[in-house]
Amino acid sequence: MRIDIISAVPELLYGPFNTSIIKKSIDKNLAEIVIHNLRDYSVNNYKSIDNYQYGGGSGMVMLIEPIDKCISKLKAKRNYDEIIYMSPDGDSLNQSTFNNLSCYKNIIILCGHYKGVDQRVRDFIITKEISIGDYVLTGGELPAAILTDGILRLIPGVLGDETSALTDSFQDNLLSHPVYTRPKEYNSWKVPEILLSGDTKKIEKWRTEKSFNLTKKKRPDLL
Ligand code: SAM
Repeated sequence: MRIDIISAVPELLYGPFNTSIIKKSIDKNLAEIVIHNLRDYSVNNYKSIDNYQYGGGSGMVMLIEPIDKCISKLKAKRNYDEIIYMSPDGDSLNQSTFNNLSCYKNIIILCGHYKGVDQRVRDFIITKEISIGDYVLTGGELPAAILTDGILRLIPGVLGDETSALTDSFQDNLLSHPVYTRPKEYNSWKVPEILLSGDTKKIEKWRTEKSFNLTKKKRPDLL
């Protein structure tokens, strides 16, 4: 899968993709992340990518020309399944968004800044808008990193054990069961006996019950 991320502050994106599981997925050629500096597409000598709002008011607005230039260049080279704008008023991000997007081959993610992008970008260029929550951040880079991470970990081969992601919270609308590891006892706090029994059927039943009960207690809306 290829993800193109367009940003006015690309430095914010280098860290999250340069370490751990996501870096390994890139090194293994399971994913390609290409970061584009929007300023490279500026149409003036000052490399500016924003201007004042028509009608007045505080806050700058991102210009349509550099965004269109960058996206048109990408679209000329390959087909994109989705051109996503990260925006607080977009569709709420959840696990099924990740599940759906992880099946795609090529996507573009546009990060906003300032007051956001000229509305015509949203009306005529963007195919999907995604919000990571009901709050406002300074820019779309952290939301884009969250979106990319959640998608890539679902691509076969990215996680050490492919079935791991399927047993995480929110798959099947349930929260994950509790997990334990060594030592069996710490400060007299013990691992539940059933997990040490070796009886896989009973363990599976225990986990399903725990998942269900936790979901009922913490997130009854999911059931
Ligand atoms: N004026 C916009 C509004 O009121 O909806 C907020 C703009 S915000 C300061 C700048 C950029 O940060 C947005 O264009 C978007 O790309 C990104 N952003 C901020 N909060 C976000 C969120 N909750 N989800 C996704 N993107 C967000």
